[in-house]
Amino acid sequence: MKAVGINGYGTIGKRVADAVSAQDDMKIVGVTKRTPNFEAKRAVELGYDIYMSAPDRENLFEEADIPVKGTINDLYDKVDVIVDCTPGGVGAKNMADYEKAGVKGIFQGGEKHDQIGRSFNSFSNFKESVGADFTRVVSCNTTGLCRTLNPIKELAGINKVRAVMVRRGADPGQVNKGPINSIVPNPPTVPSHHGPDVQTVMKGLKITTMAILVPTTLMHQHNLMVELDSSVSVDDVLDVLEKTPRVIPVEASSGLGSTAEIMEFAKDLGRPRGDLFEIAVWKESLNIVDNELFYMQAIHQESDVVPENVDAIRAMLEMETDPQKSIAKTNKNMGIIG
Ligand code: NAD
Repeated sequence: MKAVGINGYGTIGKRVADAVSAQDDMKIVGVTKRTPNFEAKRAVELGYDIYMSAPDRENLFEEADIPVKGTINDLYDKVDVIVDCTPGGVGAKNMADYEKAGVKGIFQGGEKHDQIGRSFNSFSNFKESVGADFTRVVSCNTTGLCRTLNPIKELAGINKVRAVMVRRGADPGQVNKGPINSIVPNPPTVPSHHGPDVQTVMKGLKITTMAILVPTTLMHQHNLMVELDSSVSVDDVLDVLEKTPRVIPVEASSGLGSTAEIMEFAKDLGRPRGDLFEIAVWKESLNIVDNELFYMQAIHQESDVVPENVDAIRAMLEMETDPQKSIAKTNKNMGIIG
């Protein structure tokens, strides 16, 4: 049983903690908190030991009557790997501490590929992180792009991809972010960073991306145009997406015509926090014109990278070298459909 620590128990961290706990070959030894808020109280109720990433704030936890097991340095002694889920830009600064403590580290998409030196997506380049000391799970948008582009590439070959991302302005719990009444080209330059990020794991893929922010918190929405190398039918593409793990084709005609309805569907599945780990592709959007494939998909930004973090742990700790076996195990234990 491998021992895992979470540094940064926020949106991604608390989900990765639960996903690790659902596995039978790894366990959570502790999570770090800076603030004694409701998430800290809930972590204790769930049985997670709390360690201080900012030891000078320990008195705040005493005042809030939240038990603390030690500092992050104590946690390092007990784990095989730290999954760093701190806000973007913080993780890379922690890398030297992990190195000094002799623990492996997994970072998130808010860090820059060049700073970590390696990026990870279960379907694109699992083997590159086998035995590695550090890797970075690519962002929610990049994970969504990789999930559907990989099987399409295998089916028909890809000459070139263009994609337009409609991004949620903030996560549902973020009260200090927007926009609340505007459409914002973000970034206003082309290409956006998403295409180069895909290329860190799908090397050599020709892809250009553009992105805008809109006033919604629920999901990201992607519009893809993919020039194929060989001639295939829409049914061939649908068939391969139906068979691809962590991808679910959905029908607008059955009431799933929007991100709001897809999130409602995830709640009906009985998922913790109403998460949708899978990428939802609208069946009706699939079309091929002059050998160019068009489709639209929706990404639950708070949760799609979570199973990838579990697979990254298996790769780095050499618990599994076959991506398909790790993906199947993670999916079974998390109740992932598709
Ligand atoms: P978050 O703000 O929800 O959570 C971050 C947690 O880290 C909070 O609990 C915060 O208190 C804690 N923290 C802050 N500074 C710290 C420090 N110096 N040391 C230790 N802990 C600290 O952030 P998030 O949305 O979970 O994002 C985490 C990472 O995941 C980022 O790199 C982000 O880009 C990436 N990511 C986020 C999303 C998303 O939609 N939220 C999706 C995919 C990837």
